[in-house]
Amino acid sequence: MYDVKSSRAEEFIDDAEIRATLRYAEQNRSNRTLIEDIIGKAARFEGLTHREAAVLLDCDQPDLNERVFKLAEDIKKRFYGNRIVMFAPLYLSNYCVNGCVYCPYHAKNRHIPRRKLSQEEIRREVIALQDMGHKRLAIELGEHPVQNPIEYVLESIKTIYGIHHRNGDIRRVNVNIAATTVENYRKLKEAGIGTYILFQETYNKANYEALHPSGPKSDYAWHTEAMDRARAGGIDDMGIGVLFGLTGYRYDFVGLMMHAEHMEAALGVGPHTISVPRIRPADDINPDEFADAVPDDKFLHIVAVIRCAVPYTGMIISTRESEKVRRRVLDLGISQISGASRTSVGGYSVDAGDEDTAQFDLADTRTLDEVVGWLLDLGYIPSFCTACYRAGRTGERFMKICKSGKIQDCCTPNAILTLKEYLLDYASPETRRKGLGVIDREIEKIGNEALRKALREDLLKLEKGERDLRF
Ligand code: SF4
Ligand code: SF4
Repeated sequence: MYDVKSSRAEEFIDDAEIRATLRYAEQNRSNRTLIEDIIGKAARFEGLTHREAAVLLDCDQPDLNERVFKLAEDIKKRFYGNRIVMFAPLYLSNYCVNGCVYCPYHAKNRHIPRRKLSQEEIRREVIALQDMGHKRLAIELGEHPVQNPIEYVLESIKTIYGIHHRNGDIRRVNVNIAATTVENYRKLKEAGIGTYILFQETYNKANYEALHPSGPKSDYAWHTEAMDRARAGGIDDMGIGVLFGLTGYRYDFVGLMMHAEHMEAALGVGPHTISVPRIRPADDINPDEFADAVPDDKFLHIVAVIRCAVPYTGMIISTRESEKVRRRVLDLGISQISGASRTSVGGYSVDAGDEDTAQFDLADTRTLDEVVGWLLDLGYIPSFCTACYRAGRTGERFMKICKSGKIQDCCTPNAILTLKEYLLDYASPETRRKGLGVIDREIEKIGNEALRKALREDLLKLEKGERDLRF
């Protein structure tokens, strides 16, 4: 029985409710009156229920779909302006006891080399990332109680925060580790993590069990209820996502929306971010074997509807996607992208160039400087901002500021300040030239004179050598 506030996975992601929603969406896919009402609600930034969002995703009226795409662009501009936050994944270990059939790190893959970084190797990786200009990382590792215990994760976080090479530092470590206990989540919170990220992969329980035949992750409820435990452990920035292509996208889309609703209703805070990965080729993995692969046009539609349904939630895309797709989804709602990623263990320095241990093949292999230059050419402000979490603006407090629109007074100045740091410390001459032009243009757009003045003063301080200034 569906219960959005239940703590039981099978009740807040109720299969019967998902199927009823899919039928409802199908029956109403040409219902113009209803669809127009839903678009109107989204345009008032009220967010959408999973049923409403499902109708928009199924809509077969081309002109109304155009309106949804246009609205997604407007919402994106209103809440995120033209800023794009940059991050990089850091793979610490590919030891894993799970059997996920779509991931080359699954325990039965005997030919992939297994690697786990020592603290010294992490140091080298982090210095390589700092020397590119990264300030925000997402650490990734397989689930392995012996090789990757929580103590290893905590020690690694401490190591990462402790490295300050030249003007570099990592100011926010997001963590993507397997579902764990309340006690371990509490330890992660105490270690100062940014967002705790865990992808559901698929919300379809039967498929989930088939795709995860062995290991602790095979327990659907344990995995699906992870965010509830993370919240009980004190974590209030949580990121969710599915791996599109594992199950029919309509089912997983509805599950994702229901999970977001559950978090808001039962945990008091909706997802901080939603990621939209699609299945990619990798060692041992051929995406053609997954019949539910999502084509580009539908993928764009999914991004647009998520943007309309949860206007305040950040959306993340990785280098799994090509430059072409990344470009389009930036307009439609994506607010964070990775740049110059390596998805192998030690890929930035220790085993640079050796992709044998990669979790998936990259579709975008440009350097960070190239990605930053590309964003500037497209009219975006690449941002290395990490201010909110460091200023205690997390969870409910963050959402309140976000919903009131006040966050804009922080985001734009912080984007400009962190871009300026990047330009001074890491950019190529060409990127620096472009970036300084964008900064001049963007300062003029800030309506509040006092804010403009304070920002100009801080920019001068950066030129004189100060770092890490923020609003
Ligand atoms: S997806 Fe994660 S848990 Fe599953 S095999 Fe890969 S690393 Fe292990
Ligand atoms: S000010 Fe906060 S919301 Fe805005 S970019 Fe920085 S961290 Fe994100």
